[in-house]
Amino acid sequence: MSYSELAERVNEVTSRISAAVARGGHAQSVRIVAVTKTHGPEAVDAAWGAGIRDVGENKVQEATGKMDQVHHQVSWHLIGHLQRNKVKSLDRFTLFHALDSARLAEAVSRHGIDRGRQVDVLVQVNVTGEETKGGYANEELRAEAERMMTLEGVRILGVMTMARHESDETQLRAAFAVARDARQILSAAGHPATELSMGMSGDYEVAVQEGATIVRLGTTLFGARET
Ligand SMILES: *Cc1c(COP(=O)(O)O)cnc(C)c1O
Repeated sequence: MSYSELAERVNEVTSRISAAVARGGHAQSVRIVAVTKTHGPEAVDAAWGAGIRDVGENKVQEATGKMDQVHHQVSWHLIGHLQRNKVKSLDRFTLFHALDSARLAEAVSRHGIDRGRQVDVLVQVNVTGEETKGGYANEELRAEAERMMTLEGVRILGVMTMARHESDETQLRAAFAVARDARQILSAAGHPATELSMGMSGDYEVAVQEGATIVRLGTTLFGARET
């Protein structure tokens, strides 16, 4: 695959994001995480060439394999589920977006303490109630947020969520507003929670209108996923 149109696509997405910020009125700044899963290391280098500095992968092994092959220094985001026995691999990522259970939170925290530096994470929230999607419901988060303050090895910088694929705009707005509430629950409990990682290729403009600070974009930048 050639990534010759990538710079144009990044420009297009960037101007759509600016327009969505203006419409939404949250006045936030928005970071693009380019999701390179299924694409080779050349996609990462192409993204860098187009001005992207943050790259997302949903699987540890695929990500670390690519890290060893790329030519440019990008910040890596782990946006997918992590097994508890792999918490050490978080050392190679800037931000882990999918803290989705208390047991994982404890394992990540223990690792942060062991290495002497907190692990930066986002709490994944389930805004759709779908059982196939991981993450905390806001009621659970209300019950857990204070206890999460005792996890000395993690720094909870905000929340990540995924909306339902087939939602219309009204449903999307409602779902993203739930994620905003989740961030509020965390910051009220004392976490430095400022980030809202939400919005993918099909819904990022609505997400930005609703306050997203990080959008995770794959297909709209790179085209259909390779298998
Ligand atoms: C694959 C993936 C994305 C990007 O999806 P696109 O629809 O291709 O933009 C975003 N977030 C997560 C968690 C993903 O797994």
